[in-house]
Amino acid sequence: MKQIFIFLLCIIIFFTNIESKHFVVISKPGSGKGTFSNYMAKKYNYVHIGLGDLTRSRKDNNQSTSLHILNKILKTHIEKTIKKSKQFILDNAITSKSNWHFWETFFHEKMLFDDIYFLVLDASDTTCISRMKDRLICKNCFNVCKKTMGIPITQHICKDCGNKLTIRQEDHDSKFLKQRFEKYHQIIEPIIKKLEKSYKVIRISSEQPLQDLYTIYDKLHHL
Ligand SMILES: [Zn+2]
Repeated sequence: MKQIFIFLLCIIIFFTNIESKHFVVISKPGSGKGTFSNYMAKKYNYVHIGLGDLTRSRKDNNQSTSLHILNKILKTHIEKTIKKSKQFILDNAITSKSNWHFWETFFHEKMLFDDIYFLVLDASDTTCISRMKDRLICKNCFNVCKKTMGIPITQHICKDCGNKLTIRQEDHDSKFLKQRFEKYHQIIEPIIKKLEKSYKVIRISSEQPLQDLYTIYDKLHHL
């Protein structure tokens, strides 16, 4: 009888110690969202749910990219992730004030706010732009890699899946980049300021050596 009691107690302690933690990443393009998400997904099994990746893959397949549809898909993806008791990283999904209201309502409905950390990766516009011009993307596993000097772009291979790495056309479209950064400063930054008043917001400078960032990301997982 005593052994059964101890066994049950252990089970209770085990389950009350399981904590869910999710990250909602809101940062400029080129600030390191992809690097953060890939690292956390590979090392800690977070499910990476990104608006950018979803939009691009639907565009490639000539499917609708209306925000209404994209949000619906992301929402379903999050619901499935939670059902499996997995942790998620929602990347780049807050794009406007009205879109933030959509997510705020959803997070409240699902009672997720206790488990959500909003992550802002800070870097100057100049740093972000030079990173974007220097990066290659794996369309298969969304790995973000730096171009290696001297090797032609066509010969760059993803070290994780062996797929060919490619440049993202939009990273080299100066007019489009300018619009994205202006939008970030005018629309997204005020949203972050609001979030800081009510929710858990973590700001990290992503202008540090990658190894130092990984150490910080490890700490974030163990918060
Ligand atoms: Zn890959």
